[in-house]
Amino acid sequence: MHIAIVGAGQAGAALAARLRALGHKGPVTLIGAEPAAPYQRPPLSKAYLLGDMPLDRLLLRAPEFWAAQDIRLVTGVAVTALDPVAQTLTMGAEVLHWDQLALTTGAQVRRLPAAMGGDLAGVHYVRTLADVDGMAPEFTAGRRVLIVGGGYIGLEAAAVAAKKGLHVTLVEAAQRILQRVAAAETASWFRDLHMKNGVELIEGVSLFRLTGQGGVTGADLADGRHIPCDFAIVGVGILPDTALAGAAGLVLDNGIAVDAQGRTSAPQIWAAGDCASFPYRGGRLRLESVPNAIDMADCVAANILGGGTAYVPKPWFWSDQYEVKLQIAGLNTGYDRIVVRDTGTARSHWYYAGDRLLAVDAMNDPRAFMVARRLIEAGRSADPARVADPATDLKTLMG
Ligand code: FAD
Repeated sequence: MHIAIVGAGQAGAALAARLRALGHKGPVTLIGAEPAAPYQRPPLSKAYLLGDMPLDRLLLRAPEFWAAQDIRLVTGVAVTALDPVAQTLTMGAEVLHWDQLALTTGAQVRRLPAAMGGDLAGVHYVRTLADVDGMAPEFTAGRRVLIVGGGYIGLEAAAVAAKKGLHVTLVEAAQRILQRVAAAETASWFRDLHMKNGVELIEGVSLFRLTGQGGVTGADLADGRHIPCDFAIVGVGILPDTALAGAAGLVLDNGIAVDAQGRTSAPQIWAAGDCASFPYRGGRLRLESVPNAIDMADCVAANILGGGTAYVPKPWFWSDQYEVKLQIAGLNTGYDRIVVRDTGTARSHWYYAGDRLLAVDAMNDPRAFMVARRLIEAGRSADPARVADPATDLKTLMG
């Protein structure tokens, strides 16, 4: 049985390796449009951009791994068509037959339209190694960078730029940074952190357009302000990469729609990672994180081989900004209150819906993260009053 995997990122690499670990002996082909062998993206806006992590440490596997596992890794080649009936895919001049296919095509950054200056030279996006290698030379002390978007990517880029001595202005159209993903308490904590580090944060004001002749030299904001800059970074979210699946007629629904096992609307085609939306609590969910890419890929690999298990996400995430490691356990959707725990050296924000613990943002507090993650994964809660009391030993919450 030939298993082909389109997209050689975090999920694709995990899926291929898992197939072998589970004992699949037939051919496996892993195809990626990017020239690099599979690598991890999180350091792109953190240690790698800062210059603290060499290229070889970005790679998910040592170069010899793929051949040793008898996995055919094709890089620098995009799959341009799929035929779910004939069970073929087209890459360059080659038409490849497959028995089972997994789509792990990830996501594409949302770009600013050309009319807003999105195509000017010096406007950078943060998704691929090539994107980051392209913008790294801009990061020299004393230069001015404008960052559009106050989500995790924009804030991480701001932290790196500030650490490197650049003048940083970040513009967020929503009322506050992290609006889509975190509570006001967490946003406020990170706002203070960035301001202490000299970043100018402009919230509740949208970008009207980037300006410049050929290259970006500034930005006009919706409130009439003009911000001069030497270069710009746009971090305004991503869109699941469904181009191939859509053209092949697969059902899409905020990503490639899969069933509980990760199977798309075509019986021999599966999907995992950022590109896939799966059933969750009566609706559909699509997650954009490394743990989801790996866990879902592992589950789909087992199901391709006949496992028949439903994917149960255990959401967690992290972000590094300055000397702070933020760790997030759970999903905060539907929270109605935040319980703040502050021990003086560590801080965490606990999201509740009624008495039910949904999620936790832990800032330099690995213990709170670990305890909360275990509770949430076990479907358990924790008494808010005890959580808020800094004298409580968190381990006792696990009873
Ligand atoms: P990707 O890793 O994006 O891989 C998809 C691959 O498919 C791409 O290489 C693409 O080129 C390829 N592809 C698409 N279409 C085709 C085609 N037609 N033919 C061939 N190849 C194709 N997550 C965290 O959990 N924590 C973090 O701190 C964190 N930080 C991040 C920082 C940055 C800068 C970025 C960009 C992401 C970060 N993420 C983080 C998110 C995380 O990296 C993604 O969720 C994860 O990479 C998703 O894996 P994936 O395999 O689904 O997609």
